[in-house]
Amino acid sequence: VSTGGLLVYAESNVESGKQVVEQNQPESKKKRVVVLGTGWGGTSFLKDVDISSYDVQVVSPRNYFAFTPLLPSVTCGTVEARSIVEPVRNIIKKSSGEIQFWEAECLKIDPENRTVSCRSGINDNLAGHNDFSLQYDYLVVAVGAQVNTFNTPGVMEHCHFLKEVEDAQRIRRTVIDCFEKSVIPGLSEEERRTNLHFVIVGGGPTGVEFAAELHDYVYEDLVKIYPSVKDFVKITVIQSGDHILNTFDERISSFAEQKFQRDGIEVSTGCRVTSVSDHFINMKVKSTGKHVEVPYGMVVWSTGVGTRPFVKDFMEQVGQEKRRILATDEWLRVKGCSNVYALGDCASIDQRKVMEDISTIFKAADKDDSGTLSVEEFRDVLEDIIIRYPQVDLYLKNKHLLEAKDLFRDSEGNEREEVDIEGFKLALSHVDSQMKSLPATAQVAAQQGTYLARCLNRWDQCKSNPEGPRRFKSSGRHEFLPFEYRHLGQFAPLGGDQAAAELPGDWVSMGHSTQWLWYSVYASKQVSWRTRYLVVGDWVRRYIFGRDSSR
Ligand code: FAD
Ligand code: MG
Ligand code: MG
Ligand code: MG
Ligand code: MG
Repeated sequence: VSTGGLLVYAESNVESGKQVVEQNQPESKKKRVVVLGTGWGGTSFLKDVDISSYDVQVVSPRNYFAFTPLLPSVTCGTVEARSIVEPVRNIIKKSSGEIQFWEAECLKIDPENRTVSCRSGINDNLAGHNDFSLQYDYLVVAVGAQVNTFNTPGVMEHCHFLKEVEDAQRIRRTVIDCFEKSVIPGLSEEERRTNLHFVIVGGGPTGVEFAAELHDYVYEDLVKIYPSVKDFVKITVIQSGDHILNTFDERISSFAEQKFQRDGIEVSTGCRVTSVSDHFINMKVKSTGKHVEVPYGMVVWSTGVGTRPFVKDFMEQVGQEKRRILATDEWLRVKGCSNVYALGDCASIDQRKVMEDISTIFKAADKDDSGTLSVEEFRDVLEDIIIRYPQVDLYLKNKHLLEAKDLFRDSEGNEREEVDIEGFKLALSHVDSQMKSLPATAQVAAQQGTYLARCLNRWDQCKSNPEGPRRFKSSGRHEFLPFEYRHLGQFAPLGGDQAAAELPGDWVSMGHSTQWLWYSVYASKQVSWRTRYLVVGDWVRRYIFGRDSSR
């Protein structure tokens, strides 16, 4: 129950945390918190942060929050763009005070002077821009990631991306354009086929979902209004790995492949795109080493995420220039500077290795200072170890080890009562291999935002308590627990009103009923009643009238 423990603990302490801060208020000014970004991470932080203790300002180039899981539906008009966005100003309006929002882009973080430089007016080509800077006591970086082309030539110029609401709208117009272009008189069959070849690069959840959406759109709606070219449409998914949806359970991945095969969506696995020109996409087939040139009507590039340039610059300032992605500790504090937190897609938690801390763990666990650890002593601290080092839990589960004493067995499998430090090292020697970084998902970003808000809300208590799980410290005071991710499962909509889902506890569900589960989960996850009403309305409209096909 350690996961629930964190939340219960945090909630029960919010009240007392507030009191402490309010008492201090007359002498100390409120601390300034600056938040960068209004995506999943930023808004979930803003929803929970206690503004009676902080003076909060938000900077983002978009004055709305976008419900990204429904972006693929926007590409085909199943759901309208306006239905999945919520104005930030609605989200930050609070009865107890004000959060300030500035529509601007952060250009530079200066951790030395605790300022961020921003530029407004970037969305407006005519009006010019204004530069300003903000002082912070705490900075929350939640700026997400940008697309990653892996420097493949031609991708930036010729491919569509599916990251922002504007991207989805542009794709929708282009799909219709491709159909309109293909029915123009005087074209050869070859030209019509090229115009109607839709290529998706990347067989991850986004690429697969878009392919499925597009397939439904084409065969449920468009072939009825463009009957002359209906046999010329082709949808291809290019995947460099051996399977699509390879982060999902194998059963889901093969279900998706079979469904796509029945639907006539071509899946080219083991192919790497080497360049894209205005009419052709070039790829290398890994097994044969051959290069192939494929003509296309539209390409959607949906693979990989990269670090934003100003975050790269910040990483250089704090000594993280060698890393690919901004590193934080388990409390989401950016490594190499103070008072800066980062969460969501722009950062990754640099998990501590058990082996690096093994002597400290041993000493803390060896309560009677005997120099050996008994099974009893180990059992007492195992729960704390698991909070601090989640890989231990994964290791125990994957190896089907149920108890502390199972780790203490010697090489012959005999139970041991006690181990010394060498024996302890041996027992835990393989657990670090289980370390996994968290996926770049909305689920992770949102949980991190909530976690960080709760930490800041009871800052006063926690300031006097250094890091570390409760029982490693004997002071008896409460400490911050590190961030702990709870995976609630993931969906893969596959078209034709079928979906696949991976649910907690190794549960896999596929088919039409899963699609209904998907509808209800995504309806319930909407940020406001307004967007919930709009999204559900769009779904109903689609059932009755089909999708709109004007560009
Ligand atoms: P974002 O949500 O990307 O937010 C970043 C914010 O920072 C934005 O408001 C942006 O405008 C702002 N920003 C950018 N640059 C600056 C700057 N210089 N200064 C200030 N602000 C800046 N995840 C799931 O869990 N389930 C799904 O089904 C799912 N489906 C997806 C479908 C699609 C098409 C996409 C693109 C993503 C999907 N994801 C899904 C992933 C999910 O959207 C991301 O993991 C999530 O958005 C990450 O949250 P974030 O807050 O880190 O970044
Ligand atoms: Mg964000
Ligand atoms: Mg978002
Ligand atoms: Mg991350
Ligand atoms: Mg002992």
